[in-house]
Amino acid sequence: MNEHTLATTLPTVVIGAGPIGLAAASQLIERGIEPLVLEAGDAAGSAVREWSHVRLFSTWAEVVDPAAEKLLAPTGWVKPDGATYPTGGDWASRYLQPLAEVLGDTVRYGARVTGVSRTGRDRVVDADREQQPFTVHVQFADGREERLLARAVIDASGTWSTPSPLGGDGLPALGERSAADRVSYRVPDLKDPAVRARYAGKRTAVVGSGASAFTALAYIADLAKEVPGTHAVWILRRGISGSTFGGGSADQLPARGALGLAAKAAVDDGYADAVTGFRTAAVERDGDQIVLVGEDGRRLDPVDEVIGLTGFRPDLSFVNELRLGLDERLQAPVELAPLIDPNVHSCGTVYPHGVNELSHPETDVYLVGMKSYGRAPTFLAMTGYEQVRSIAAALAGDQDAAERVELTLPETGVCGGAGLFDEPQTEASDGGCCGAPATLQIGVGAPATSGGC
Ligand SMILES: Cc1cc2nc3c(=O)[nH]c(=O)nc-3n(C[C@H](O)[C@H](O)[C@H](O)COP(=O)(O)OP(=O)(O)OC[C@H]3O[C@@H](n4cnc5c(N)ncnc54)[C@H](O)[C@@H]3O)c2cc1C
Repeated sequence: MNEHTLATTLPTVVIGAGPIGLAAASQLIERGIEPLVLEAGDAAGSAVREWSHVRLFSTWAEVVDPAAEKLLAPTGWVKPDGATYPTGGDWASRYLQPLAEVLGDTVRYGARVTGVSRTGRDRVVDADREQQPFTVHVQFADGREERLLARAVIDASGTWSTPSPLGGDGLPALGERSAADRVSYRVPDLKDPAVRARYAGKRTAVVGSGASAFTALAYIADLAKEVPGTHAVWILRRGISGSTFGGGSADQLPARGALGLAAKAAVDDGYADAVTGFRTAAVERDGDQIVLVGEDGRRLDPVDEVIGLTGFRPDLSFVNELRLGLDERLQAPVELAPLIDPNVHSCGTVYPHGVNELSHPETDVYLVGMKSYGRAPTFLAMTGYEQVRSIAAALAGDQDAAERVELTLPETGVCGGAGLFDEPQTEASDGGCCGAPATLQIGVGAPATSGGC
C-alpha cells in the first residue's frame, strides 16, 4: 500500500478513551483525519471513573482540551466553571462522556487492544516496513477478536492498570502477592461503606510519597477524627525534609500544594506516624495482621491494611512488535525522558515537548498521555493535550504547527519534593535536586524553566 492510500483510506487508531485519547480524536477531527478510538472499558474515562471520589488539583479550565471544547460547543454543552475543581467522577460524567457522545461511532467500547504491529512485518523485518499499515489486534468484551488496519497509532492507554508494587526493588515484595487481600493500590473511597469499614478503627500503612499518598493520609486522618483507633503509618523510602510535603503555598496549582499540607497536618496532629528510609522487602502475616519488613531488616509494628501508592508503570506488552525508542529507566520516549527523569532532572532544563520528543524509530506511532511519561510521576492532562495537538498537526503534514509549542505548565514551587500523584521512589527523590521535576514551564519564546530549585 502506498503512503497516499495509507493516509486517505485508513483511520488513525487511538488506544484508550481517557482524557488524552479523546483529546487526540478531537484534534485529529479538527485536522480532517479520521480517528478510531478503541476503549477496553464500557464507558469513556473508564480509568478516571475508578478514582471518581478523588478531587483533581487542577481546575476545570486546566482539564478541558481546546479541540474537544470546539466539538462540544455546538451541542449546547455547558462548560463547568473554570475556576472550580472537578472530582474524577465529574471529569468523566460532565466532560469525557459528553465528548465521547459527540464522537459517536468513532469510539468503540469493550475493545481491548492486545497487539499492534506492521502488517506482515514483525519487529525484525525491514523490507517495505513503512509502506505497510499497522495491524491492530482487538479483543472485544463479547469474546470476538478482530484485526484492524491503521494508518497511524496513538497509544493513550494510560498506566492506571499497572501500579508499581511495594517492593523497594521494583518487584513485588516477598509475600506481597499472597497478601493481596490486605494490600490495595488505590486511594480509598471512604464514602463507600464497605471501603470505610475496611479502614475504620484500623491501623493502615500508606506506602509512597506523592499526591495520592498525601490524599490517602488526609482521608485516613479525617476518618480518625470520627472513628477512634483509626491510624496511619506513613512509609517513605526517603527521609523527611522541607520539600517532602510539596510546594505548599508556593505551588502554582494551589490545590496540589494543599494536598501536601493536609498530609503534614495528618502527621503533626498525630493521626499518622512517619517511618522514613524504609524499603519494603517482605510482607508477612502475623495472625490477622500484616508486618512489613525492610531491606535493612527492620520489622514494623503490625498493621491491619496496606495501601501502596508508589507510582505506575506502562504496559508495553501489546506494543512489543513495534520499534519503540524508550529510555531504559523511565520507559518513556528517549527524547522526552531526560526532561522528566526524577534521577537526573536538572532544574531549568526543559525543552518544548511535542511530536519531536514523542517520535520513535517506528514512524507514525506515538505513546501519549500518562503512558508517555513511563514511570515518571509528573504528568498533567494539559501536557497530554499539547502532545496530541502537536501529533495531529504532524500527521496532517503541518510541521510548523507540530513544532510550535503552545503550553505553559504551572510550577510546583518545590524541587526534590513530592511528585504530582504517585512518586516512584528514586535515589534522587530521596533528596536530590528535582526529585519531583513536576514542572516543565514551556512558553513560546519564554525561557524554559522548571520549579525553582
Ligand atoms: C488519582 C489521580 C489524580 C490525578 N489528578 C490530576 C490533576 O488534578 N490534574 C492533572 O492534570 N492530572 C491529574 N492526574 C493525571 C492524569 O491527568 C490522569 O491520570 C489522566 O486520566 C491521564 O489520562 P490518559 O488519557 O493518559 O490515561 P487514562 O485516563 O488512564 O485513560 C486510559 C484509557 O485507556 C483504556 N485502556 C487501557 N488499556 C487499553 C487497551 N489495551 N486497549 C484499549 N483501551 C485501553 C483505559 O480503560 C482508559 O480508559 C491524576 C491521576 C490520578 C491517578
